[in-house]
Amino acid sequence: MSIRLEDLPVAVIGAGPVGLAAAAHLAERGIPFTVLEAGASPAAAVRQWGHVRLFSPWRFNVDQAARRLLAEAGWVEPDPDVLPTGGQLAGEYLQPLADLPELKPYVRYDTRVLAITRLGLDRLRTAGRDTTPFLVRLADGEDVLARAVIDATGTWGTPNVLGAAGIPAHGETDATGFVEHALPDVLGADRDRFAGKRTLVVGAGHSAANTLLSLAELAGDEPGTAVVWAIRSASPARTYGGQAADALPARGALGSRLREHVEAGIIKLVTNFSVRSVTVTDGRVVVSDGSDSITVDRIVSATGFRPDHGVAAELRLDLDPVMGSTRALAPLIDPNEHSCGTVPPHGVDELTHPEPGYYAIGVKSYGRAPTFLLATGYEQARSVVAALAGDWKAARDVQLDLPETGVCNSNPVLDADTIDAGSSGCCGAPATETVAAPAGRGLVTGISGGLLSAPLALPPVASTVETPTEQAEGQGGGCCG
Ligand SMILES: Cc1cc2nc3c(=O)[nH]c(=O)nc-3n(C[C@H](O)[C@H](O)[C@H](O)COP(=O)(O)OP(=O)(O)OC[C@H]3O[C@@H](n4cnc5c(N)ncnc54)[C@H](O)[C@@H]3O)c2cc1C
Repeated sequence: MSIRLEDLPVAVIGAGPVGLAAAAHLAERGIPFTVLEAGASPAAAVRQWGHVRLFSPWRFNVDQAARRLLAEAGWVEPDPDVLPTGGQLAGEYLQPLADLPELKPYVRYDTRVLAITRLGLDRLRTAGRDTTPFLVRLADGEDVLARAVIDATGTWGTPNVLGAAGIPAHGETDATGFVEHALPDVLGADRDRFAGKRTLVVGAGHSAANTLLSLAELAGDEPGTAVVWAIRSASPARTYGGQAADALPARGALGSRLREHVEAGIIKLVTNFSVRSVTVTDGRVVVSDGSDSITVDRIVSATGFRPDHGVAAELRLDLDPVMGSTRALAPLIDPNEHSCGTVPPHGVDELTHPEPGYYAIGVKSYGRAPTFLLATGYEQARSVVAALAGDWKAARDVQLDLPETGVCNSNPVLDADTIDAGSSGCCGAPATETVAAPAGRGLVTGISGGLLSAPLALPPVASTVETPTEQAEGQGGGCCG
């Protein structure tokens, strides 16, 4: 008996903000769906950076369909001008959304997708492909059949490596116990791992900057805490940004404080350093660029993220060789040409692969480009779901509701280190006005224009720490992560 595509649900993989937005649009259009989420709760990735304050305020962080469904259920929308932390985004918006009766019965947690293919067809087989159900293989061995797949699995689970060449540095795999994912909660849950320790932060983006400032604050409280910052480029100027001359006070303050701490010797900056090897020795770790080395207790790898297309390896994907997005999307998000504020609206047409019915949306859709914003992801979700509903007019009527002044800058990124660092991407931007965020310890990952800046949890310039004799490594990090 043949299985009719139209009798199957749409599989949405990932219950992050964009996957749940897709679910909200599917619910509104009455299209059956199932959300498959690896984590134990919605927004599993966002919760991991829950201590970090977003740089875009609530008004840009809530999907339209989600807002409508939540409003019907009596949800009181947070102040649109306030910058939430990741924890607030998850707790005050995404959890209530996932708990709505329109979504909850169709969201499966602790459900990791291992692979996506076509039922009975490998990638080579063409005949009947567009009428054959998708087969989604779960970690427990179950196969879920679907009429279409919306892959919103993000990139948080696949950070870039420390190795400057894009592959692990020699010994990096053996040193994983010493290497932290980007944005550890240095002043909160992860404090003990850094207190009294010497930590190397690798990367030149805002996540590196935030972690460095947290470590510097910790150094003021916890004797023996030392901070080393390594970048690939010759100068930290782009991470410092415009400082006092910056149109965004908070971003300027971030750069200024970072510079102050570097100049005071609290943060030891090492430039022109590309990680080649990582060696564990005597309970510490030695990082080398081939000629110089530095010994530390911990490494924070703030080197950005990349998509994992492995789950879709049996599908026919047409990936841009540089960005890892679709080819049609690549020129629209290229950080050589765009910041997130200048990414044009786009939807189903730009997200279409040769594999009919498979769409990667959300931050995964951008591949390695550090120019993603939730607002663009929500528009992707709306457009793709409209197309699945056969409403091509709506699908192609793509719009982007960004602030007039732009959330981000419009300066093209000029060099490779900055592209990696994302310091001119969505996290670095001139602005025309600012709106204060609520007080709190949340860190700002980047500063958006036109609407916001947040009070920063900036450490005072405190006592100096030991100046290392070694050199450290530098490498760019992702835009927001
Ligand atoms: C620190 C930080 C700050 C940011 N700040 C902003 C901001 O201020 N404004 C803004 O617009 N954007 C911001 N971003 C960028 C972006 O909006 C976020 O990364 C956002 O979380 C992307 O949403 P997503 O749904 O695409 O992916 P994610 O939030 O990463 O969600 C992906 C989901 O898929 C699940 N998953 C992964 N693999 C599988 C699998 N194999 N099977 C099943 N489930 C799986 C994960 O558990 C996760 O729940 C920020 C990003 C970071 C990292």
